[in-house]
Amino acid sequence: MNEKRCILCNKPYNYKYVMFGRGCLDNLYDLLGFSKAPRIIWNKELYLCTRIAWKNHKFFLNKKKKYVLAQKYIALAYLNMMDYEALNNIKEKISKEINSISMFSKEIVDTIQFSLNEIYKLFNYTNKFNERLEEIKKINWKEVDKKVAEDFIKSMSFIFDVTKKASPVSYAVFYSMQYTFWQIVVVGGILAKMKLSARLLTHALPIFGKQPSDIIIEDEEIIKLILDNQKFKDRINQLIQKYGQNQETFIVDNSSPEEDIIIKFDGGDLLYALHNATMIVKAKKDKENKWSFEIEIIDTYDFTDFKDLEEYADNEDAIADIVSTLLNNFGVVSSEYGVIKTYNIKIKFKTKEGEF
Ligand SMILES: [Zn+2]
Repeated sequence: MNEKRCILCNKPYNYKYVMFGRGCLDNLYDLLGFSKAPRIIWNKELYLCTRIAWKNHKFFLNKKKKYVLAQKYIALAYLNMMDYEALNNIKEKISKEINSISMFSKEIVDTIQFSLNEIYKLFNYTNKFNERLEEIKKINWKEVDKKVAEDFIKSMSFIFDVTKKASPVSYAVFYSMQYTFWQIVVVGGILAKMKLSARLLTHALPIFGKQPSDIIIEDEEIIKLILDNQKFKDRINQLIQKYGQNQETFIVDNSSPEEDIIIKFDGGDLLYALHNATMIVKAKKDKENKWSFEIEIIDTYDFTDFKDLEEYADNEDAIADIVSTLLNNFGVVSSEYGVIKTYNIKIKFKTKEGEF
């Protein structure tokens, strides 16, 4: 005799029902808002399916259609409880399938592949995720102990499972959890003090199915961050030494040697935001014989090219350490899911000798 397994929780059962164990069946009555079956009803599973059919104004369905309808209806109920926008398209398709079932309908078309057990597991994942999220929201990222922060972030690693990409329903749910993670945990928490990093990551998280546009940044706050940075200052002074001797103007652009255009910042917000940036400099002497500069820092926001961050991360800084290892790996997974998207950044500003 074949062992029967509940199509919802996948646990074995040996009752007469064809789909669900007794515990799950009881829970489904509650979950779907049906009152308990009267005692006189012998097959409470079939009765549930009939109730679902009636609720959908479908009468005289044969048994097979009732069971199929019930599965789709239960799937939809679980998906509604997850409440993710990325699931809307899937929910619409399942609703259409439900509508198309009638006593006259012939074949039942499955436009979305799923199993109830898959959806049940996804529902449990989202519950676990939401619980972790509530705990993480309470963390004060400025004062948190390094080990505690690391453990918190690690406890989220189950949402960065690449194998879940293959099925459309799992993909939408894992996409949504990752999206929420980056927005709430990273932008709103870990990176809250890192203005540029938070802004660039936010821009890399467009709504489901959209592509981010390229951006040009000209805000004072971010430009000040660069002007105050020692790597930037050193670079400009090197360029003046190399190209500015006895000159009125010079240009350092893509035709210049790599070491003069590639700029790697050594810590904090700039390091985390800009991974492989190029700096184009147009320099001109003004009337007072001082250099003035038009500068463009160009980068592609891309987590796949993020590897050497660890080399630069300042180990004294708890958050940077976590950011550089765990978040890097999560970022690569989220890029594969299309949660974090790639786009081009240009930071444009003018400055003068003595202003930085
Ligand atoms: Zn079960």
